[in-house]
Amino acid sequence: MKLSELKTGEQAVIVKVHGHGGFRKRIIEMGFIKGKAVEVLLNAPLQDPVKYKLMGYEVSLRRQEAEMIEVMSAEDASQLKPAESGRQALITRETHPDDYLQHMALRKHRTINVALIGNPNCGKTSLFNFASGAHGHVGNYSGVTVDASVAHASFFGYEFNLTDLPGTYSLSCYSPEELYVRQHLSEQMPDVVINIIDSSNIERNLYLTTQLIDMDLRIVGALNMYDEFEGRGDKLDLQTLSTLFGIPMVPTSFKSGMGVKELFKAVIQVYEGSSKEARHLHINYGHEIEDGIRHIQQYLKPDPSVHTRYSTRYVALKLLEHDTDMEHFISQRAGSQTARIMAARDKASARVQEETAQEAETAIMDAKYGFINGALREAGFQQGTKKDTYRTTHLIDRVLSHKYLGFPIFFAILFLMFQTTFVLGQYPMDWIDAGVEWLGQWVAASMSEGPLRSMLVDGIIGGVGAVIVFLPQILILYFFISLMEDSGYMARAAFIMDRLMHGMGLHGKSFIPLVMGFGCNVPAVMATRTIESRRSRLITMLILPFMSCSARLPIYIMIIGTFFAVEYQSWVMLSLYVVGILMAVIVSKVFSTWIIKGEDTPFVMELPPYRWPTAKAIGRHTWEKGKEYLKKMGGIILVASIIVWALGYFGPKGTAQDMEHSFIGLLGQWIAPLFTLQGFNWQLDVSLIAGVGAKEIVASTIGVLGGLEDLSPLTAYCYLLFVLLYFPCIATIAAIKHETNSWRWAMIAAVYTTCLAWVVSAVVYQIGSSF
Ligand code: GDP
Ligand code: MG
Repeated sequence: MKLSELKTGEQAVIVKVHGHGGFRKRIIEMGFIKGKAVEVLLNAPLQDPVKYKLMGYEVSLRRQEAEMIEVMSAEDASQLKPAESGRQALITRETHPDDYLQHMALRKHRTINVALIGNPNCGKTSLFNFASGAHGHVGNYSGVTVDASVAHASFFGYEFNLTDLPGTYSLSCYSPEELYVRQHLSEQMPDVVINIIDSSNIERNLYLTTQLIDMDLRIVGALNMYDEFEGRGDKLDLQTLSTLFGIPMVPTSFKSGMGVKELFKAVIQVYEGSSKEARHLHINYGHEIEDGIRHIQQYLKPDPSVHTRYSTRYVALKLLEHDTDMEHFISQRAGSQTARIMAARDKASARVQEETAQEAETAIMDAKYGFINGALREAGFQQGTKKDTYRTTHLIDRVLSHKYLGFPIFFAILFLMFQTTFVLGQYPMDWIDAGVEWLGQWVAASMSEGPLRSMLVDGIIGGVGAVIVFLPQILILYFFISLMEDSGYMARAAFIMDRLMHGMGLHGKSFIPLVMGFGCNVPAVMATRTIESRRSRLITMLILPFMSCSARLPIYIMIIGTFFAVEYQSWVMLSLYVVGILMAVIVSKVFSTWIIKGEDTPFVMELPPYRWPTAKAIGRHTWEKGKEYLKKMGGIILVASIIVWALGYFGPKGTAQDMEHSFIGLLGQWIAPLFTLQGFNWQLDVSLIAGVGAKEIVASTIGVLGGLEDLSPLTAYCYLLFVLLYFPCIATIAAIKHETNSWRWAMIAAVYTTCLAWVVSAVVYQIGSSF
């Protein structure tokens, strides 16, 4: 509980003080130390400050300050689970009536919230998995970690809540990842930050470190990839570097687990304030900027709504950088002071501009690099001469990203991937198919006739069975994609495709989600998070539905198998994929030229060194993606199958004699006029509606309803076009809503695809039938 939540007369014991270092120091100096008892003398609502009794003295705190202090009240203690074993288990309210709360507060104090922060690909997720045994995805493609995930670990009698945050190069507010990380730091207020530094790219990685220092956080540095660092023969005096940065730096390799224990030992020391290296320092930004900072700080210091949350130095710096997020924070928090603070900022930044002929932001950045350079020089940093990793990488790259060879190799790999997926996937597919059929027959034979049997056999087993057969193919496809990501090849693929994608108004990074879309659109929509430019990202999401996902395969197979001669079948199938891709190209061009305008912020295309992916990581990653597919099956597809079955089984007069008189039949006849231009019959219409839930349901609905007998091949083909292009599925639309954080774009995706499908299929049918 927060200290501010205690009522007059209540008592509690202090667990920890949150917030940045300067604030914590002042509060601790006032006596708010872990394990000390505190009593509220007067806490009236709306009254500020609040009066407390602490160690026999009376002290008053601002309410916003008291919010940053975590305490253990009697109520908290009663809700705490009793310790299962060890010394703690012997402590109960009965055995320790006097200092029970103290004991509980100290126990709570031994839980440390840790945030993992670092550049993309520095090894955050590897540490996260290593320390906690969790199954996050480890990838070599920048930015695979996109949401924060939380796991627990314990070392040396302390519990750790680890949060794996998205990788960022900086803490400005240009990308959603950066904002996300910043928000986590200021709102969740982790006790300690582990800053993971890729020591094979140390200069660039330390840039982020300097920003963490500005925030006045408790930081431990993990110099990761130390194996490669040593392998190359690089040199660096770690002790000096730690001292210069005021951060304990621990050499680690999360591949082998080297240094993990030492790292957590350092975290505990920093948390408990017993670390020898940890100290807060001010990076010197040169006297122009420093003057500006001091000038702005004057107006920030008296205001508790600012200084409880951020170090005023940090706020001043961010304001000087014209950071829009911080400007927003100030205008919300500082109230009437806002105008004065902003005026001070404008004056200061004009001065900087005058004196240095530079934007303040550039001057700050230069100073940071100066700091890093100086520190590295002093710590005797030397790049080794034994180039191993990178030489191999460069050698491989000479072939794989060659100007001319790159393309054919890439397409050969893609071809191999799809070929293997479909050929190899056929075997388990047949087995599962046989299994599902057997199960259906077995259930049918062992139950008496009635709605329940029909629901189980035709609804659930039929519906879900039609979908589960594609799991092996999905897993194989994702296995390949994981392999390409983890080895570093996917980044090259993006690089190779960049020029082509620019022609579509997109970016090379859009290519990977598009490839994933052939498996399932849902994880593909999520994978667009690696695209830094919001515009490219949005367009990619909007055209993703045209990547023919595997859910559409059963329909293709069913229809093509029925209406086209064997020698044409694979061509018809291929034509669908091609039409999908062509549509994606056209629509993307249209969107990027006319609808979603704006400049693309240029961003770096990372080319991480090639690495041998570990079997464990590949397995995890494949599974993570396949899980999304299974989840969809357990949820939406199951429900939709039952609904479709019920609508087909019952009619207005109870149980329907045949489909035509069931609810679904009536519905189909009712909407039939909508599809006269396409020549669809009512069974097809109904299946299209059912397919809104998930495209797999289209096939299972046709399976239940029939209605293929009286179609012409032209109608069948137009129907396939419609299935290819229209409304992707509820799960995809929900994913787009989640990723764009707007219903508007989700609705646009839903509506424009359906309109396009209607137009294309109508045009093809009308032209085709005029011959
Ligand atoms: P994240 O993007 O920061 O979460 O980075 P990941 O944990 O996904 O790691 C990126 C890649 O670096 C993976 O292929 C890891 O196997 C690899 N990796 C992580 N730590 C080390 C290390 O200490 N040494 C080496 N050689 N590779 C590592
Ligand atoms: Mg990660």
